[in-house]
Amino acid sequence: MNAPRTMFEKIWERHVIVTRGENEALLYIDRNLVHEGSFHAFGTLAKEGRKVRKPRQTFAMADHYVPTLGRERGLAGVTDPEVRGMIELLEANAKTNGIAHFGIDDPRQGIVHVVGPELGLTQPGLTITCGDSHTSTHGAFGALAFGIGASQLKQILATQCLWQKKPRTLRITVDSALGPGVTAKDVILAIVAKIGTDGATGQVIEYGGAAIRALSMEGRLTICNMSIEAGARAGMVAPDDTTFHYLAGREYAPRGADWDKALGLWRSLPTDEGAGFDREVALNGAQLEPMVTWGTSPEEAAPVGGIVPDPQEINDMDKRAYAEQALAYMELKPGIPLTGIRIDLAFIGTCTNGRIEDLRAAAAVLKGRKVVVPAWVSPGSTAVQRQAEAEGLDRIFREAGFEWRASGCSSCAAMNGDSVPAGMRCASTSNRNFEGRQGKGARTHLMSPAMVAAAAVTGCITDVRTLLAHG
Ligand code: SF4
Repeated sequence: MNAPRTMFEKIWERHVIVTRGENEALLYIDRNLVHEGSFHAFGTLAKEGRKVRKPRQTFAMADHYVPTLGRERGLAGVTDPEVRGMIELLEANAKTNGIAHFGIDDPRQGIVHVVGPELGLTQPGLTITCGDSHTSTHGAFGALAFGIGASQLKQILATQCLWQKKPRTLRITVDSALGPGVTAKDVILAIVAKIGTDGATGQVIEYGGAAIRALSMEGRLTICNMSIEAGARAGMVAPDDTTFHYLAGREYAPRGADWDKALGLWRSLPTDEGAGFDREVALNGAQLEPMVTWGTSPEEAAPVGGIVPDPQEINDMDKRAYAEQALAYMELKPGIPLTGIRIDLAFIGTCTNGRIEDLRAAAAVLKGRKVVVPAWVSPGSTAVQRQAEAEGLDRIFREAGFEWRASGCSSCAAMNGDSVPAGMRCASTSNRNFEGRQGKGARTHLMSPAMVAAAAVTGCITDVRTLLAHG
């Protein structure tokens, strides 16, 4: 009888072409996703006189640099010549190499980690790469998905293979049902706060337990998305009927007999009973609360009912120094309650929380209320935007005072100009609150879409459950 294996081991072993040394393997890459930032790899490839080895396995999406305003004019609406050049270069590289391209005018355009699942490109059992660290998102389908650098991208474009060190494994179990107002974003912020930004370094996380199983695909995508914030190489959730139901009928999902065959493989992927992980962590989902970050690292997060911690009470000297610096940057004093911290702006979007379920959750809080600070929403994809408009969510956002913008990475990393001005405090659904992430001097508080909506209508960090109860 074969030894029990984890889901990661099953996928890893299926993709090893050859090994070297004790711990390195040349992996076959099934899907490779590229965005505007890929120009360097394409440029080097061209200089070497090479072409993309397997163009049908790479997909190009314009997301990082696309403006979220003026999009009704397509490329003509892009006023910054440098940004326009980036978008055009991606299209040209895709065309030269025969790669499918979902550009600024395509109804399938959107953030690469939102579009991949939406189109059915992301499937269980696949190896998936992209030059963006939040590629871990796709692991929500039971895929092995990880971010790569420019030279690795060039290697994949040229060979469809990649040398990788075999990561260790960590299982994180979240049991019990989540309480009202507690979302996937709160779960992952609680996990990162518990294990730290280096808590899963060099590891692949498999998420399991009743709270994870009960999540929709959107929720699982949010969890896997932020695995990288705990240092993980990848995050995964075992595929199940929720996964298969989501995938059925999508543009790139298998059909007919191919679907049945794929389903057979997909059902064999979950971790075998008795398979061992290098490490295990457990959380009780029933005890989790809406979370909010107070510092400049995703691990500097606390339940919304808590206080800004005192760095002097942190034993780890490095973390203490980091927390002191974070509080100075965030202009916060130890001991003050998190609720009531004034915010200047509110932002909903990104590959973490720009999906339809996220917009529905925020709209449920906004309905019949008005924002008191400038706020904008950038749906994770054009398809999400259209779906939200069909459901009338855009009207709710607009009536509440939110700007309803087009899809793109927007204020996640502010590469498209959607930046937060210096000194301003932004309630944000994005994934990173590093110094300057949303713009030079910008102060970011990470939270769920419903919590951002609550902050936008009150002007301060607010426990969304108080609005849900009386709304
Ligand atoms: S939204 Fe942010 S994390 Fe996601 S792909 Fe864009 S820049 Fe990367």
